[in-house]
Amino acid sequence: MSNLDLFLMMDDGRPVPKAPRIGEIRTKVALPPSRLPGLDYALNPYVGCQHDCLYCYAPYVTKRPRTEWKTVLARTDLPQALAKEIRGKKGTIGLGTVTDPYQEAERHLLITRRCLMEIVPHGLSVSVLTKSDLILRDLDLYKELKGEVGITVTSVNDDISRMLEPGAPLPGRRVEALRKMTDEGLNAYALIGPLLPLLTEKDIDQMVETLSSTGIKWVMLDRFRPRPGMFDDIARRKDGAEVAEKLENAHRAEDYHGLESLLRRKFSEKGLRCVNAF
Ligand code: SF4
Repeated sequence: MSNLDLFLMMDDGRPVPKAPRIGEIRTKVALPPSRLPGLDYALNPYVGCQHDCLYCYAPYVTKRPRTEWKTVLARTDLPQALAKEIRGKKGTIGLGTVTDPYQEAERHLLITRRCLMEIVPHGLSVSVLTKSDLILRDLDLYKELKGEVGITVTSVNDDISRMLEPGAPLPGRRVEALRKMTDEGLNAYALIGPLLPLLTEKDIDQMVETLSSTGIKWVMLDRFRPRPGMFDDIARRKDGAEVAEKLENAHRAEDYHGLESLLRRKFSEKGLRCVNAF
């Protein structure tokens, strides 16, 4: 591993955690099989994620220490490895199954974009998921690909997003990205995942109203699944104790089926289909 001496800045004018240095990691397998339903392969240009969502369970799944999750490692050789492995393959590639393929590092390194350029001539479908409107940079390529483009929106409340997704673009930018992608004729959807137990009925109403206005035809729902140790990890962060307590209490108290049914009913009233994630 060597260091690429890049300094990362968010571009929406709000304070962000200190930008990490980015390391490089060599690609062993570019297109491992995916166990997620509907996906044949997984493609992850980065290890770790600067979006730093407090509810992220990827570190627990990948067994990377939670404290190191924000330290991003870039698979800079991934486009070349992909070019070799993709020949003869068919099916759907899940882009960003473990980390966000449009985190800020991508603005500088363009690994995701170069991978898409390798995929286009081979005709495989791509199912991408991100929290960043940087995805709009690659609209030209998504228009040539089959598949779906997903943006995660867990609420449209900036305060909730700042608290739980401190390094990610604010919800308004994600909503505008969805609008732009549907305007361009792409099969765009919002992943409401995790469905946060903190949400009130007013939050749900605002989210349903806002997302319905983007022109998307469907949303995907994923439940909040705290991993063992997650609340303790959140509490150990600077100023994290209060957030951990709030989230844990809401999780314990919430009638989850009630929240989920409410969301489904409200989206259905707007004519949007709800599907379950994974
Ligand atoms: S964007 Fe996804 S991978 Fe990145 S920290 Fe948030 S939940 Fe984890």
